[in-house]
Amino acid sequence: MTLVMKFGGTSVGSAAAMRETADLILQARDTWGNVAVIASAMGSKPVKVTDLLLQGAHTAYTGDRETYTRLAGQLRNIHYEAIDGLLSPEGERQIVLAEVERFIDRFTSLCGAVNVLGELTPRALDAISGMGEQMSVRILAAYLRELGYDSEAIDATELILTDDNFQSAAPQTAATRARTVARLQPLLDAGAIPIITGFIGATADGVTTTLGRGGSDFSAAILGQALDADEVWIWTDVDGVMSADPRLVPSAVSIPTLSFREVSELAYYGARVLHAKTMRPCIESGIPLRIKNTFNPTHPGTVIEDDAAQQNGELKAVTAIKGVSMITVEGKGMIGVPGIAARTFGAVARLDVSVLLITQASSEQSICFIVPEASAISVVGSLGAEFAEELQRRDIERIWSRDAIAIVTIVGAGIQTTYGIAGRIFSALGDHTVNVIAIAQGSSECGISVVVAGEDVGRAVEHVHELIVARGGGR
Ligand code: ADP
Ligand code: MG
Repeated sequence: MTLVMKFGGTSVGSAAAMRETADLILQARDTWGNVAVIASAMGSKPVKVTDLLLQGAHTAYTGDRETYTRLAGQLRNIHYEAIDGLLSPEGERQIVLAEVERFIDRFTSLCGAVNVLGELTPRALDAISGMGEQMSVRILAAYLRELGYDSEAIDATELILTDDNFQSAAPQTAATRARTVARLQPLLDAGAIPIITGFIGATADGVTTTLGRGGSDFSAAILGQALDADEVWIWTDVDGVMSADPRLVPSAVSIPTLSFREVSELAYYGARVLHAKTMRPCIESGIPLRIKNTFNPTHPGTVIEDDAAQQNGELKAVTAIKGVSMITVEGKGMIGVPGIAARTFGAVARLDVSVLLITQASSEQSICFIVPEASAISVVGSLGAEFAEELQRRDIERIWSRDAIAIVTIVGAGIQTTYGIAGRIFSALGDHTVNVIAIAQGSSECGISVVVAGEDVGRAVEHVHELIVARGGGR
């Protein structure tokens, strides 16, 4: 049996966390046989190594030479402290210290180059921001060797072949599978534990790329697929996917099972725990994905499986996106004029703005949709130009944006099948004087989104969450 496990930033965030992580790796190896590990950069919140690397690059770009030099010192301290806590002087401590030093030198010289050139390309950003993983895997693998196990740190640049879309590179499945099997299978067969960098890949020319948001989770799913893993486990710092963001709703509970569609809906509408694209390789290959808590490992966490396995409560979770705007195109003359909607969304797409949600007004005299607040002004401007003639003829009367609003999304496959559930959601909101500005049913049919004023979002989430818990969600 083959298990692929990914450990997030907090799970490798300190010597103590890495010890826990090593324990979990060894336990899993006893049960599963083959275990391949993907690790993120060190990141005991709020200090995340990847953020420090990026900050170095950005400040260097603005002409500042002090900050990246200072950050190099901070990066050195974080990694040295972990190395001191894990590796003995008689063992590999000096070797790993020297390896980390080499990356920090590289960080400093890359930032220096950015500073001198006054240019920060996506390619340079990927080279700089991927180094956190390259350092953390070397420490973790050396620690496993120190414990007496055969383990090797591997840069995913050797495994994951991507296109050259730096910052958000797309993996090439067939080539990645061939490289991964060739490199990892002999190690696994020999009983070794590969510790692989999350987040990064490489182009055919060997240039480092990064996989975008949630990158290390994506790495785990890609490598799980390449190895035909039986399961992929994502270790993080919460008991799986929760019924709400636990930082906002302290009473949030862990959800035992979710379908891929339900998690995609949650992720799309703002839950940070997993990004939709990161799950795709597992969905394609039917590999169950489990989310577990490094700091509470006996908790079963959440299993995400194909759409047959579900039904624990009809409503499962609530999530919110703040800082969005609602754009309305309105006019009596729009009725029956073909192509208005197509032209509207065409104009938005040309700005490269993503539409988060579309709602249908009953009168058909308007089109409403939601975009990130930062894009609202340019969207309204571009629609004004697109419909200049219609505005002049008064077929379209007004194009406007309402800012400072939020989308609250309730997810659960039962939304589709349970009679009257939408009504319950609206009463829960109405009873607590949350005014619903607009509604939309998610495309996957397992979510309902409501648009509310920004100042209402906290109350909306809280009271919808009460309803979810009252109806057995998450249990
Ligand atoms: P990692 O570094 O392990 O990848 P992330 O910060 O990416 O961790 O994701 C885990 C965090 O996601 C949790 O600490 C939690 O604050 C946040 N989160 C937001 N919404 C949810 C939710 N519905 N369920 C679980 N976690 C959530
Ligand atoms: Mg994450």
